[in-house]
Amino acid sequence: MSRDYDLGETFDSRLLAEAPRVRLSRRGIVMGLAAGSVFPFVSGCTTNAATGDSQLLLFGDDQIASMAATAWTDMKAQTPQTSNAQLKNRVLGIWDRTIKGAAAQGHVNPNDQWDVAVFDTDDVNAFVMPGNRVGVYRGITELTENDDQISSVLGHETGHVVGRHAAERMSVTTAAQVGLMAGQIAVASSEELSKYGSMIGALGGAAVQFGVVLPYSRKHELQADRLGVDYMHSAGYDVKQSVRLWELMAAQSEGQRPPEFMSTHPDPVRRAEELRSYINARGYALM
Ligand SMILES: [Zn+2]
Repeated sequence: MSRDYDLGETFDSRLLAEAPRVRLSRRGIVMGLAAGSVFPFVSGCTTNAATGDSQLLLFGDDQIASMAATAWTDMKAQTPQTSNAQLKNRVLGIWDRTIKGAAAQGHVNPNDQWDVAVFDTDDVNAFVMPGNRVGVYRGITELTENDDQISSVLGHETGHVVGRHAAERMSVTTAAQVGLMAGQIAVASSEELSKYGSMIGALGGAAVQFGVVLPYSRKHELQADRLGVDYMHSAGYDVKQSVRLWELMAAQSEGQRPPEFMSTHPDPVRRAEELRSYINARGYALM
């Protein structure tokens, strides 16, 4: 990955004066332009095959994966991984089964390789990075009560991958910064945009852009919740445990140290309710 390049120093963003500043590699942007991935944006958006959503995507999967590579390498260098083989194998097993659930729905390629790291810290958190990289912290495995709840976390994170949420978020912020068709973007993605401005500026760094620190929009979170439950169901996990997971998160958030996961995944009570409705509506369970 080439050096970070601050778009704000070169491009005029008068059209969106309050647009967030996003740090991206110059190479990634040039490649995006050269590869013609800007055209879908100019003509509107691309349609996500799995979700049916129309999305603004300026970056291809390979490009965004290579941009995330440095953040992933840094994270693995800076954070100890568990030496508990039993825990690692348990998480890997749940991941494997959950991702097969997603593959059964045709949402991921069953032959894809994933790099799953179990970090040995108390953080109650988990994340995915573009390029099939998955991080799970010991802390979240200790909060959960069973494999089904861990599957719920991993299924949710897989939902972010399938929904291409990282690519969409980066594309929206980039397009806003560059000022391309700013009016249309502002209308179409005002929810996404409004979330990022101050946070990107304050935090910076590659990890911020890939879902570790920066929250996704509410729309993305709900979609990931629902896809996660679909994958749990396909994998034969108890989908009701996804509701229980958010209830646990809600209970923890009233304590002195709310789970890290909560900072990027707010509104646990409301999410539990929405998941309950979804599970009933899909007929996965009655609850
Ligand atoms: Zn999420």
